[in-house]
Amino acid sequence: MLLIFGSTIHETLVNVVAFVCGYCHVHAPQNVVKRSNRFTLFFIPLFSFSTSYVNQCTNCGAETRITSEQAHNSLTWSAAQR
Ligand SMILES: [Zn+2]
Repeated sequence: MLLIFGSTIHETLVNVVAFVCGYCHVHAPQNVVKRSNRFTLFFIPLFSFSTSYVNQCTNCGAETRITSEQAHNSLTWSAAQR
């Protein structure tokens, strides 16, 4: 019997916030991205076994790892800006 299994990374855009990037020092939109590592069986994703959040600068592409709480707080912070 042949089993084909592996993992795939799935990215979801959580939010976009604008602030001065710590790397390029430009006020640019920052993408808050949820990254989940999913176990696949016969190329079908079954479940996530690790999840992380990153902040990506749209100007320079630099990534900063953030906590899930920080990603959640970005939603309330951007809602307050409107
Ligand atoms: Zn930047």
